[in-house]
Amino acid sequence: MATDRNTAPEEALEALYGSDTFGIKTMEKYLSKSAFKKMMNTIRQGGKLDPGIADEVAQAMKVWALSKGATHYTHWFQPLSDATAEKHDSFVEPDGEGGMICEFTGKTLIQGEPDASSFPSGGIRATFEARGYTAWDPTSPAFIKRTAHTATLCIPTAFCSYTGEALDKKTPLLRSMKAVGTQAARVLKCFGITPSCVDSNLGAEQEYFLVDRDLYLKRPDLIETGRTLFGCLPPKHQQMEDHYFGSIKERVLEFMSSVDHALWALGVPAKTRHNEVAPAQFEIAPLFEASNVAVDHNVMIMDILQRQALKFNLVCLLHEKPYACVNGSGKHNNWSLSTPELGSLFSPGKTPHSNLVFLTFLASVIRAIDLHADLLRASISKAGNDHRLGAQEAPPAIISIFLGDQLTDIVEQIKAGGAKSSTSKTTMELGVDVLPALPKDTTDRNRTSPFAFTGNKFEFRAVGSSQTCAWPMAVLNTIEAETLDMIATKLEPVVGTPEFTSTVTELIKEMITKHDRIIFNGNGYSEEWLAEAERRGLPNLKDTPEALEVLSRPDTIALMEKYGVLSRAELLARKEVQIENYEKLIDIEAKTCLNMLRTIYMPAVNKQMASLCSTIASIKASGISAGLAAVTQQAESIGALCDELPGKVAALDAAISNGCPQRMKIAMQDARDTVDALEALVAADLWPVPTYAQMLNIHSK
Ligand code: ADP
Ligand code: MG
Repeated sequence: MATDRNTAPEEALEALYGSDTFGIKTMEKYLSKSAFKKMMNTIRQGGKLDPGIADEVAQAMKVWALSKGATHYTHWFQPLSDATAEKHDSFVEPDGEGGMICEFTGKTLIQGEPDASSFPSGGIRATFEARGYTAWDPTSPAFIKRTAHTATLCIPTAFCSYTGEALDKKTPLLRSMKAVGTQAARVLKCFGITPSCVDSNLGAEQEYFLVDRDLYLKRPDLIETGRTLFGCLPPKHQQMEDHYFGSIKERVLEFMSSVDHALWALGVPAKTRHNEVAPAQFEIAPLFEASNVAVDHNVMIMDILQRQALKFNLVCLLHEKPYACVNGSGKHNNWSLSTPELGSLFSPGKTPHSNLVFLTFLASVIRAIDLHADLLRASISKAGNDHRLGAQEAPPAIISIFLGDQLTDIVEQIKAGGAKSSTSKTTMELGVDVLPALPKDTTDRNRTSPFAFTGNKFEFRAVGSSQTCAWPMAVLNTIEAETLDMIATKLEPVVGTPEFTSTVTELIKEMITKHDRIIFNGNGYSEEWLAEAERRGLPNLKDTPEALEVLSRPDTIALMEKYGVLSRAELLARKEVQIENYEKLIDIEAKTCLNMLRTIYMPAVNKQMASLCSTIASIKASGISAGLAAVTQQAESIGALCDELPGKVAALDAAISNGCPQRMKIAMQDARDTVDALEALVAADLWPVPTYAQMLNIHSK
């Protein structure tokens, strides 16, 4: 790493970039020509890896990793939690003569067998057959994970049960990429385009909060649950709108810079950094990449954000809603399909022909999202995200597409034009006439839409900040594959015939006419939209338990099985894991809440009461009457709130014993209302935990 990080000249930055990854350049240097060619074929074209080169690749990886100071390697994977998993093995093997050699074979590279009995499997794998295995994903580069004094070679892998069922988030993503790539290529072929491959791309913008570590350590709720369970609104929060894109203060900028440098070393193309809407909220965005690589990189970003923060005595909060009073955090998933030759298939083109391709792909997304809005909603369900969706600040729980006025106008004309004339002429001319005038960055930015068209890609904004993008992207790819499959099936028989163009335009018109209820360009936070969406028959799945039901519906199972993304058993297991995860999270929150009430807030308020009572007693003893009424009134107000607490504590306790998440949520909110009211009355020096005002003011230190 360059020592003078912040002023590193271009060459130093170039040398830093990817220096801790076994990427293409490194491979070229360490592999024989033929092995390198085979690896590139797998990486670029998704071809099957030739097992014959595994030993050579392993050897090269070992030599490289050792040169980077690595002592251990690990198969790095993404189990069904939102975390990553790693079990380290050292390279050390005895040489039989009391010494050691460093060993790493092709077999160990390709496959690992972690004892995985404690990973969530949703009942797929009983513990007696606990063995799962990890399989190398050669399309995502291996990398070195560093701490101050350690270096570990991390090999991105998929994780399956012994019987071959996917137990991770990556496997269905890879399968969905293949499905959508295959179907998109079929459609392109109908238009006479033969791409070398079709990629599903992802650029994931990551929002996060920073909090001073000393304050964080005084908040058991943040430590245990990642969010504050109590805290009243400070006078100044985000109403001045002065944080968004504001000048980045020094402490934070130093942190961001260290994050960027750590990420660049890992070959993560960190690009954008800025202040977000809420105080103490920020964003980092890398450049887009193939979805599986982008998902790995996003997980690495989350890891680096958290680790680097500690170096600045900060804690990075990735929870969707750390503070009740200000905006929550999301992860905007910028998604597109592209070919190396054409770029994004969602780019309006310059010629009539390419515009027809564009309109076909645009219409396909409209259809796919409308058909599966509920499944897409289900793909982002998590306890933390429930606080965000529909909370007047984040995308609503109702999925709709924002197209912008111009494209909507085109869509309207296609509907009308096609209706007027059954010949394709009108519609075609429309495509020719209108689209070339389309400026590239057509969209009037609409921040309230969960799924927005933004020029040459779609931005799925409802993903939560702590979730991995793997599952939402797998769902998106799969539903898109289904519609592209339908399109290809309809077009293939007419390829080369005079009816081709009219068939395409009719199909576009039909898709748009049938599914345009999903298009909404207005304010997604408004009450009117709720009513309008209901009128249109769009699903509004309010919380995680309601949304997860979609996963076990026969049509969902059929869809996932048809495109080989998840089997019925795999899908049902995922639902199981997510329900369990939801229930556990709420249970942890409720228990933390109860604990804080009993051991932190009630004792603090008692102290305040005792102090007021002794003041009252001493005023009385002094014989003066002035001031007595004021102190008495203060004690009465606080006392009245104190009297609410035992009942609320008992209700929460009962809800926990009862095990009902919904009851726990209501009881927590109820108790919070009282504590927050007390916070506004109790002496600041007696208040036992840091306030919102203190925590949100990250720059004061
Ligand atoms: P915003 O203005 O929405 O905040 P950002 O610059 O923060 O935009 O992030 C935009 C993201 O979209 C980046 O990750 C960028 O690489 C990604 N992106 C740009 N073009 C495409 C594309 N064709 N496909 C997928 N992602 C893309
Ligand atoms: Mg952004």
